Amino acid sequence: QRKNTPKSLISGTTGTDIEIGESVRVCVRSRPLNEKEISSGDTSCVTVINPQTLQLNLKSGTKNFRFHQVMDENYTQGQMFSDSGVHILLDSVLDGYSGCVFAYGQTGSGKTYTMAGVEENLGKQDYVSNETDGIIPRSISYMWQNMTRRKEQYYVKAAFMEIYNEQLRDLLNPASGVLHLRWNIKSGFYVENMLVVDCTNIDDLIMVLHEGIRNRKTSSHELNKDSSRSHSLLLIHTISEEKNEDGHSFKKYGKISFVDLAGSERLKESKSQGAMIKETGNINKSLFMLGKVISALGDKKKVKSHIPYRDSKLTKLLMDSLGGTSKALMIANISPASAYVEETMSTLNYATRAMNIKNKPVIQVD
Ligand code: ADP
Repeated sequence: QRKNTPKSLISGTTGTDIEIGESVRVCVRSRPLNEKEISSGDTSCVTVINPQTLQLNLKSGTKNFRFHQVMDENYTQGQMFSDSGVHILLDSVLDGYSGCVFAYGQTGSGKTYTMAGVEENLGKQDYVSNETDGIIPRSISYMWQNMTRRKEQYYVKAAFMEIYNEQLRDLLNPASGVLHLRWNIKSGFYVENMLVVDCTNIDDLIMVLHEGIRNRKTSSHELNKDSSRSHSLLLIHTISEEKNEDGHSFKKYGKISFVDLAGSERLKESKSQGAMIKETGNINKSLFMLGKVISALGDKKKVKSHIPYRDSKLTKLLMDSLGGTSKALMIANISPASAYVEETMSTLNYATRAMNIKNKPVIQVD
């Protein structure tokens, strides 16, 4: 029995006039033009009209897009954390719900920077937190502070994995090779033999993050992989025990997944293979299928029939975090450079599809 109904993610710090009751909050963040873009004379094709409206300047004219929050290039990592509304999702995880934060966008648009921080720093053994820390380290610290404030005792476990070419690997235990996804009625989909680390203090959790980032870097060098093709997923589970009015205790299981997605330019490669997608082994099936799940969740006619969660590793793993009572935060990262206007347009279209997902208490999956 649930004691609290989850609060809408949408009524975050910045409060918008967008309908309450939606379960996906969509933020768009533009990074600054980088030195290379400036020196090549590139200019910005993005104008932030107001905190919810972004204008894209195309050759053929302008196009406006509306999101729950638009973050311009001057946003600091701290402002990003506050205005993303992620703390509402984290509160709901501590209340025993599932949530998911994912960063979508082309390679180089700032996904890893937004999620984790400056990658080179984070992998370092002696790294001390600083203002470039992204949403994950800030969320860890927010969660820990709030767990200690609450009266119930929390247990925290974490796992970190990567999906590359539809193969799952453990970023905390790379020696275990390719892992398999299994399903049972009690847990739904789970990863067999995945290392799940018990975290008894905040440093344990930060160490999990750094270890995973380090291993992701090492494995992409060793196996000559292009890390922009892989998705990384950090899963944090919280378990707490509470007593109800008649003295019976019950457990609350919360879960949050932080997903740094493969570069969205990979989606185009997948799409171009069309019906051949299954046979060719595809470029990035998981990214393609996530788009399908998002579209299906946003499509009123489709919701009651079939959500194609079971068609990729990523969507299987996120099945309990997208739709239903779960909350999701999508951060669409864009580059403002005019050279990438087409790629930016496709990211904004993808993000717009996610804007249509509503809270659906019952989703039939077959
Ligand atoms: P992605 O993960 O999407 O491939 P990265 O996060 O690696 O992109 O970002 C590419 C580069 O741009 C990195 O050097 C990163 O530090 C920098 N960067 C990204 N976003 C910002 C930002 N908002 N402010 C400053 N630098 C940024």
